[in-house]
Amino acid sequence: MLHGPATIWQSCLAFLKKELPSQSLQTWIEPLSILRIDPNQVILLAPDAFFCDWVEEHYQSFLERAIFEATSWRPAFTIQPESNDVATSLPSSLASVTTDAGKVLRPVSSFALNPRYRFDNFICGESNEFAFSAAKAVAEAPGQTSFNPFVIYSGVGLGKTHLLQAIGDFCLTEGTASSVVYITAEKFISDYINSIRKREMAAFVATYRSADLLLVDDIQFFLKTEGSQREFFHTFNALFQNNKQIVLSADCAPPSLQGFEPRLISRFQSGLVTGIDTPDLETRIAIVNHKANQQGIQLQSEVAHHIAETNVGNVRELEGALTRVLALSKLTHKSITMDLVSKMLPNIRAERRKKISLPDILEVTSNHFQIAPGDIQGTTRKQEVALARHVTMYLSKRLTGLSLKMIGAGFGGRDHSTVVHACKNVEKRLGIDPEFLELISKLHSQLGVTFNNAA
Ligand code: ADP
Ligand code: MG
Repeated sequence: MLHGPATIWQSCLAFLKKELPSQSLQTWIEPLSILRIDPNQVILLAPDAFFCDWVEEHYQSFLERAIFEATSWRPAFTIQPESNDVATSLPSSLASVTTDAGKVLRPVSSFALNPRYRFDNFICGESNEFAFSAAKAVAEAPGQTSFNPFVIYSGVGLGKTHLLQAIGDFCLTEGTASSVVYITAEKFISDYINSIRKREMAAFVATYRSADLLLVDDIQFFLKTEGSQREFFHTFNALFQNNKQIVLSADCAPPSLQGFEPRLISRFQSGLVTGIDTPDLETRIAIVNHKANQQGIQLQSEVAHHIAETNVGNVRELEGALTRVLALSKLTHKSITMDLVSKMLPNIRAERRKKISLPDILEVTSNHFQIAPGDIQGTTRKQEVALARHVTMYLSKRLTGLSLKMIGAGFGGRDHSTVVHACKNVEKRLGIDPEFLELISKLHSQLGVTFNNAA
């Protein structure tokens, strides 16, 4: 089923689309191009050396997984800058990284666990303490505790996948289980459907039923598909009867998983069910500090506090905020001060209170670019005018609450895709041009709001 590099790259993008926030995908992945993809080597080109550095540090493991998903290859992996003269000004970032083959050579049955998800980098607080210690107990003696099945539920971004994979990692590293299968319910369903189509049911069944430890993530996806639900039920029973460990995650507590057959729900509840809540401020601060430390950065306590305070929803958002702060500091070569951080991260309450209109934005952009509002809203294709227009559309989309269609209408009846295109252009440039990032941040503050590059 393999095709040329372009097709492989398309499958990688499709895979990454599911794995990464669209902002990261647009900023860091889409600008990459392929120099070479084959079973031995993958060489990707990035616009410059900084870009390479960033992608290596943050997305290489995702890219490796994407390649593996698309091809089942584990090639050596290099990201290099398109132009070498840019690179020479940043020598430290030139090192092209090749995959350490030893590191990825886990048993095949590890189903591509993400090495980032381990117990030792999971921060405990009141909100997740119970889930964490139960997960450890399960990992130490899979199938031998009464925690079978072990079900973790929570809203998004609170650490379910992290804990599931940490269990798998622990079992493989410590040897408490040798055949570990981690799968999302979505993938289980699609594998199931494929196996029927290709008449490979026996292989499908064997893969899952031979597991010592089966980790199934996001089981709410089974809701709509009876056939795979049934197959899952059989798998579940087969493993359970053989004292194999089953760990599941869901986006809500099992009784609320409406649409599941009652016999499955009662199975889910027969072991241990535990929830993870949103972390309190103290835990969030600990998480921010820990993640910064992992990158060799020691944050001032005021800074960590501010980041934790402005991101209350979930840990994924918290990580995103920290990543942006670190990126801006790196891009602009400025140290991470309260000043830098408060410019970037929104004062959420203030942002909600304030209502901004298209004329407010036009006033600010017209002033900055020295172009009349009428021209910005008009049809001139001159480069400076087009830039002012893109920025105005981008700010309108973020700050006014108007629909794309309404924004388009405010620019001489343009269609919504023009607005989308403008916003994409701006976002793309934000990821690579520190001066532009500063400009956008400045325009935000002129409008009385703090710039938050992720929102
Ligand atoms: P979920 O599966 O519940 O949506 P994830 O496990 O994907 O959430 O977690 C989102 C991100 O937050 C991951 O990068 C994960 O490593 C991180 N994370 C969540 N909880 C914690 C924690 N307690 N300590 C450290 N990192 C965490
Ligand atoms: Mg998850």
